[in-house]
Amino acid sequence: MTRLECAAACGAGALDPERPQHLCACGSPLLARYDLPALARTWSRDALRDRPATLWRYREVLPAAAGGAPVSLGEGFTPLTHATRLGAELGMDRLYVKDESANPTNSFKARGLSVAVTRARDLGARTLSVPSAGNAGNALAAYAAQAGLAARIFMPRDVKEPFIRECELYGADVTLVDGLITDAGRLAATQAAEAGWYDVSTLKEPYRIEGKKTMAYELAEQLDWEWPEWFIYPTGGGTGIVGMWKAFAELEELGWMPRGRRPHLVAVQASGCAPIVRAFAAGAERAVFWTGAQTVADGLRVPAAIGDFLILQALRDSGGTAIAVDDDRMVAAMRELGRCEGISAAPEGGATLCALRTLLQQGVIDRADRVVLFNTGGALKYLELLRP
Ligand SMILES: *Cc1c(COP(=O)(O)O)cnc(C)c1O
Repeated sequence: MTRLECAAACGAGALDPERPQHLCACGSPLLARYDLPALARTWSRDALRDRPATLWRYREVLPAAAGGAPVSLGEGFTPLTHATRLGAELGMDRLYVKDESANPTNSFKARGLSVAVTRARDLGARTLSVPSAGNAGNALAAYAAQAGLAARIFMPRDVKEPFIRECELYGADVTLVDGLITDAGRLAATQAAEAGWYDVSTLKEPYRIEGKKTMAYELAEQLDWEWPEWFIYPTGGGTGIVGMWKAFAELEELGWMPRGRRPHLVAVQASGCAPIVRAFAAGAERAVFWTGAQTVADGLRVPAAIGDFLILQALRDSGGTAIAVDDDRMVAAMRELGRCEGISAAPEGGATLCALRTLLQQGVIDRADRVVLFNTGGALKYLELLRP
């Protein structure tokens, strides 16, 4: 890693990654940059063969860890399931599910937090804080515990109980906040500033994106270096979309993937909270705050995202789209993923299957296309949704 740059290219100079950095002076997220031309000469796909099956197998395009040892619980390199039975139901031969429920703490938040906690530790942080809808809090709590650091988690008061208990299990300090994740974010930011904690809010530090982008590296590797036509991804704060779009560019610069053939990105949101879908449909550059946000998919209950303009740009530049799904359909799709494929899906994962169905009906996606659904978390923390 050589520097940190403003994601909005506001013209501010590059920042030093060897110091704690959060946002650019203009308020935009920061992105980590690497010496990719040098790596393109010295690093090849073959070098991956004997690496550990975690996201740290791509360490050349991640921030280096002090002493070479990251804070790791075995995150990443999750299964890519060829969903043949579900595919047969839909008339598709080439449907895949990237099953992120296999990550530590049961969701893909582990990726971002493994990298962010590694960096925070190396930069001398002692206490880390995060506002969370649930999964980010669980992941921060686990990685902070492994690193011997303190974690302060701020969650909406109506968060499902397993998320609270799991934070406590890892010894984190939990504060329940009246309101939504944006309200939790405000309180977390105030307290962090007063107490000098290191804030790892979505896109408000540059390294969670780096962890999430490894999903694209893995998919390239698992699909034998050939991009599928579509990635269907449940979008809240947008770390995954922004991270994978960044990874596409890096993979091209490394010469590992051909230029100009990136997957189309589909952002899936809940009909009760769809600011990105609304902005995409309106052709807007930024999203408007979604009032009265409501959905059983906690990870999608994000009424405003600081990286909204980056998400919208990635969707458009990829020739993708954005689509909203009703809660009852998501829950039915959780059962379908379970029954047909043995996959434990969070409602957010179910939402991707609903989106696929609609896009097939609309003729946007062809049944012959290669499609990857992202099951971003497991069903276990959402069992209350499955009660008969
Ligand atoms: C956080 C979360 C999301 C949204 O992820 P982003 O990359 O921040 O948009 C989706 N699904 C689950 C299960 C989550 O926890």
